Amino acid sequence: MTMQKVILKQGKEKSVLQRHPWVFSGAIATVDADDGAMVPLCSYDGTVIAWGYYNSRTQIAMRLLTFSDRKPDDDLIARRLMNAYALRVASGVVNSTNAFRMVHSEGDMLPGLIADWYNGHCVVQFLTSGMDRLKETIVQIIQEKLQPLSIYERSEHEGRKMEGLPSIHAQLYGQTPDFIAINEHGMEFLVDVIKGQKTGFYCDQRDNRVLIQSIAKGKNVLNLFAYSGGFSIAALMGGATKAVSVDSSGYALSIAQKNCELNNVAKRHVGVKADVFEYINTNDIPQNVIICDPPALIKSRSSIQQGLRGYKELNVKIFKKAPPLSFVLTCSCSRFVDMKLFQKIVFSAARDANREVTITGKYLQPADHPVSIYCPETEYLKAIMVFIS
Ligand code: SAH
Repeated sequence: MTMQKVILKQGKEKSVLQRHPWVFSGAIATVDADDGAMVPLCSYDGTVIAWGYYNSRTQIAMRLLTFSDRKPDDDLIARRLMNAYALRVASGVVNSTNAFRMVHSEGDMLPGLIADWYNGHCVVQFLTSGMDRLKETIVQIIQEKLQPLSIYERSEHEGRKMEGLPSIHAQLYGQTPDFIAINEHGMEFLVDVIKGQKTGFYCDQRDNRVLIQSIAKGKNVLNLFAYSGGFSIAALMGGATKAVSVDSSGYALSIAQKNCELNNVAKRHVGVKADVFEYINTNDIPQNVIICDPPALIKSRSSIQQGLRGYKELNVKIFKKAPPLSFVLTCSCSRFVDMKLFQKIVFSAARDANREVTITGKYLQPADHPVSIYCPETEYLKAIMVFIS
């Protein structure tokens, strides 16, 4: 049997030589590979220039793991996992929290793998069929080297359907409790790994929660798209007089309420179950610190224009209604919007709202969500803090 491989069209190797881990289907000349198989990628003259896994069903036809003729083996996967863990330790993330993203897909050179660590419990997500094939190896390495209390699989990303994979919820090792109590910067949060959103908690907003905490003293806070109340609790612990959390999920708000009780700030907290778009249409905004952290409003290239309108609409409304001398932390977690474009949206919202708006800071995702310099698409979270006078 000849070895399976993928051959690029003539002149299409540039991005690979620059270590970009994605190969689009349009760049490929010939394929002899099964979906999910780890295969060499050749330039048109037949030289092996990289290795990665293939899928005929997706526009990103290959995701690359090495940029040489070295075939990725279990040792390489183990080394990458350990390097990822070492980064979380070396960067100091583990000093302030026991909940962090341990593996950030392409950002840790393990495309298609997400692993989150919640106070000793591990939650994994296999986003692609190539990574799915490595599941057993990965779970074994995590189990042996990191000795978690449990491992839970939440592979139910929308992309899995496109990859030809089913949604999977499964206990892979040990017993994951219904709620895991985590501690982030001295705040306690309950994480529902099994029924919560994504893997249960938004670790990526950790640094921004500290930011909100630092300006919250004596302020009145509106937390839009609040989920389990992270920003509200940070603000209240920082001395905010009151925080209102708005979310469309009653279940998320019930966890937010529990989290407030856990941190002894429940008396100053109000949860409102509502669609944020409707809420800001029909309610005044008396608060002088406002956080707007919507889910990704752009999920694919084809919905960019519509999503951009969504971001703008939200920000126009907030800027119009915010009282003088207020702070707004406005966020986007869509990877189709970079900081430059997001700032443009915020600019056009400020202009349309006809307010005096200044930027006091711009923030990206924290170190446990590393950005691959070769794959700028791994930078997804943007937050801009503005002051409205
Ligand atoms: N800021 C949060 C994370 C927000 S995730 C944190 O730091 O933990 C996005 C949240 O928006 C989810 O909780 C989801 O339930 C909620 N959501 C999505 N669409 C919504 C809408 N139209 N109105 C209100 N909430 C919405």
